[in-house]
Amino acid sequence: MAVDRAATRRKDPQWVRELLEAPSSRVVAVSRDGVLLDDGAEPALARRPLALVGGSEQLTREPILLGLEDGSAMFALDLEELDGSLTTVSLREAGSLLPAGDGGLAAYAVALLGWHRRHRFCANCGAPTDVSEAGFSRHCPNCGATHFPRLDPVVIMLVEHDGRLLLGRHTNWPPRRYSALAGFVAPGESVEEAVVREVHEESGIRAFGPQFVASQPWPFPSSLMLGFHAYADGGEPFTRDGELEDVRWFEQDAVRAALTADAGGPGTGRLLLPPPIAIARFLIDRWLTRS
Ligand SMILES: [Zn+2]
Repeated sequence: MAVDRAATRRKDPQWVRELLEAPSSRVVAVSRDGVLLDDGAEPALARRPLALVGGSEQLTREPILLGLEDGSAMFALDLEELDGSLTTVSLREAGSLLPAGDGGLAAYAVALLGWHRRHRFCANCGAPTDVSEAGFSRHCPNCGATHFPRLDPVVIMLVEHDGRLLLGRHTNWPPRRYSALAGFVAPGESVEEAVVREVHEESGIRAFGPQFVASQPWPFPSSLMLGFHAYADGGEPFTRDGELEDVRWFEQDAVRAALTADAGGPGTGRLLLPPPIAIARFLIDRWLTRS
């Protein structure tokens, strides 16, 4: 994402007020789980001059500054507060349509506005809070507490044994879809411990040697996906905690065949991989490339 979050300058209210009046300032419009796209030939996140979208009153009251893009300010506007009939595209859909930079910006805007929407009251004393730092925090005028956006860390991991991958499926997924096991990090736990615990809870398999590979913000509503690769000594997996419908080992050939089937439209094989937008898919593609 090529946006400068202006973490220091945003603390100056006068600077933020000037940005709100600058003709070059633009807004990205966001709903509960959607963003506004432009109708052009190439899919792009809509960046509209403030006056054209409306909502200047909302922004003056609660300015959510995403940052600076090519030197111009970009604000986020919460469509939930407007009466208009602007149609948004779901964030999941936008993520697969948009180039990576715009997808990142969309995820950022949805995550930040979603947090503001759900945290209007002080968790300490219950009083209504105000936007501070142009959207990077909320301040309670009653007890003085400052609240920052929360992130929920989730570990997601490929477990490998003897050239096979351990994948599982949830009941509500499309038929034949399998993906990496995943789960929330618990309080007091390292992410490596979370990998080992989650794998055991979901499959009965003892994983070891988790290595961090890559991360991805996943604002549904506020997760940060931490992608790992781990190993196991084998064993027969089984579903244990009711979260998964099935969990099993897949031979590398089957995973590779699923990749080919994906490229040529809906595959007819036994396995359907997660979509390219998902970090699980990135982990699987990387494993296939290296194997
Ligand atoms: Zn308070």
